[in-house]
Amino acid sequence: MIPDSMPLRVGVYICHCGVNIAGKVDVADVSEWAGSLPHVVISRNYKFMCSEPGQAMIETDIRDHGLNRVVVASCSPRLHGKTFMETCRRPGSILIILIWRRSGNRCPG
Ligand code: SF4
Repeated sequence: MIPDSMPLRVGVYICHCGVNIAGKVDVADVSEWAGSLPHVVISRNYKFMCSEPGQAMIETDIRDHGLNRVVVASCSPRLHGKTFMETCRRPGSILIILIWRRSGNRCPG
């Protein structure tokens, strides 16, 4: 449990989903913008966030940067919510999933 008095340290992870998201959204731009927001200490984008290297990136950042909140902008939590919950639970952070799916896209979530 993270005490309320602890300063927020947020990591933001923008997923490309190959070209499913990156073909429609400028993920690098969104990532750079997210990095400028208050309390965000690191913001990254990666081609497949649910892959082992993607999860390892989040887990390593939680440890190295002392993150206590993680935002993953990707597909539906129905598909990978549990995956990222586990990724964050291991080093002891809290996951927030942001969904940017829109109707008609081809993201498998
Ligand atoms: S399935 Fe979801 S988490 Fe995995 S690469 Fe696609 S959008 Fe990212």
